[in-house]
Amino acid sequence: MSDEADKIAERKMQFLFALRSKGVTDARVLTAMERIDRGPFIRGYFAERAYEDMPLPIACGQTISQPSVVGLMTQALKVTNRDTVLEVGTGSGYQAAILSQLARRVYTVDRHKRLVREAHEVFRSLNLTNVTTLTADGSFGLPDQAPFDRIIVTAAAEDPPGPLLAQLKIGGIMVLPVGQSDAVQRLIRVTRNESGFDYDELRPVRFVPLVEGLGRDV
Ligand code: SAH
Repeated sequence: MSDEADKIAERKMQFLFALRSKGVTDARVLTAMERIDRGPFIRGYFAERAYEDMPLPIACGQTISQPSVVGLMTQALKVTNRDTVLEVGTGSGYQAAILSQLARRVYTVDRHKRLVREAHEVFRSLNLTNVTTLTADGSFGLPDQAPFDRIIVTAAAEDPPGPLLAQLKIGGIMVLPVGQSDAVQRLIRVTRNESGFDYDELRPVRFVPLVEGLGRDV
């Protein structure tokens, strides 16, 4: 192997090792994260740090989540290849790309048009044809495409938004951070049953806030 190929293989091994050591153990999730390179989702100065287990800044003052958090949330969502998934908070598009490997179809929305456009370009370059991108205030969900088997929110609200609960199928699962935006939040899993919702608390996390309305760059 060339030095460069050695370096890439080594980097990938370390990336996967960090995921496992932080509790990402689901083989399907690990395979998806092995296949989708985080590099193309980070532009500019921070691109060289793409393989570290850290959140990094992206455009519009937002952040791409830490890979281990992406892995843990994806694992908690228990996605199957028959599922239609809604992601609120496209950001860089990395989480949606991971989901695209596991789900039948992924809808991902962000309030910033620029982020949606850039993520869409990356999906196209990677030929991820089962991801649909939209610019919208995701706290209202996507009534036209609802209901969803799975919903993932990657920005923190004080409580699970009502329209998202309403757009979850019976038997469906939603994973989201809840709590005050400037404090540590709790990652929770909501499962819809015949008569209501079950809540599991997963772990403390820190996300940017879920903000009302569209970004000014629209
Ligand atoms: N999942 C992303 C990281 C998301 S950062 C990734 O893999 O890179 C959170 C994102 O939520 C930001 O891009 C922010 O613009 C978006 N966001 C915040 N409030 C929103 C809302 N009401 N509707 C849609 N997107 C929202």
